[in-house]
Amino acid sequence: MWRRGVSLSSMLSSSKSRLLNQMQVAYGFNASQVFSTRVLNPAEDGVSGARRKPFVTFVLGGPGSGKGTQCTRIVNTFGFTHLSVGDLLRKEIYSDSENGSMILDTIKEGKIVPSEVTVKLIKKAIEASENNRILVDGFPRSEENRIAYERVGGVEPDIVLFFDCPKEEMVKRVLNRNQGRIDDNIDTVKERLSVFEELNLPVIKYYSEKGILHKIDGTGTEDEIYERVLPIFAALSWSVGALKMSSQISICPICK
Ligand code: UDP
Ligand code: MG
Repeated sequence: MWRRGVSLSSMLSSSKSRLLNQMQVAYGFNASQVFSTRVLNPAEDGVSGARRKPFVTFVLGGPGSGKGTQCTRIVNTFGFTHLSVGDLLRKEIYSDSENGSMILDTIKEGKIVPSEVTVKLIKKAIEASENNRILVDGFPRSEENRIAYERVGGVEPDIVLFFDCPKEEMVKRVLNRNQGRIDDNIDTVKERLSVFEELNLPVIKYYSEKGILHKIDGTGTEDEIYERVLPIFAALSWSVGALKMSSQISICPICK
């Protein structure tokens, strides 16, 4: 990855401004914001050599607020690994796990799975990931979740996204998404919403007070919402945005 960046650097020196203009059109923001020779320094990025603390983003919001959809977009542009905690739990149901039936019942009721189960799954998934950029989607769902995760030495989030969406819109999206989920029915959705308000909003407030929360208007089309997400990552740190960009550039048609 780093070597690729170095050759990109020399390529850029000859046609840098043309390429940056093209990227601005392609990605919808000023690519010069994320391009810097700094990204090519492996010591700063931590991609080569010894593994450093990954850059972790927690993604929060009510059911149907667009967390998963926007995570997919972020993965595609910025090269994160997406850990949907709901998906990790659903996988457990179908594995031989001793907790399978308890998880199934909890999800059916729209309640929160005990922290010890979730925290273990997340920690394991982060440790197994070779990526240094990770999105944790749908966790922590309560202050209890958050504290349990901190206690076991889970990797703290660098930033937290919160997709803010009116209840009626979230209900409409969940009931229309047809993903065959056992919890996408009106009764469970009502319970999930009330759990969200009672238990998840305090977590969001906590991260806001810590100064790492990005509240995003979750209404509108997927594209419109992503336009609000993109600058957060583009402006963050040089290394986060640009490394993936460099790998995309080496295969993208505008660079031929
Ligand atoms: N869940 C949980 N803890 C988590 C994440 C999910 O207990 O950290 C359970 C909870 O019952 C939740 C369900 O899994 O209602 C589905 O979560 P997911 O994030 O997939 O739903 P979404 O909020 O995206 O609709
Ligand atoms: Mg989801």
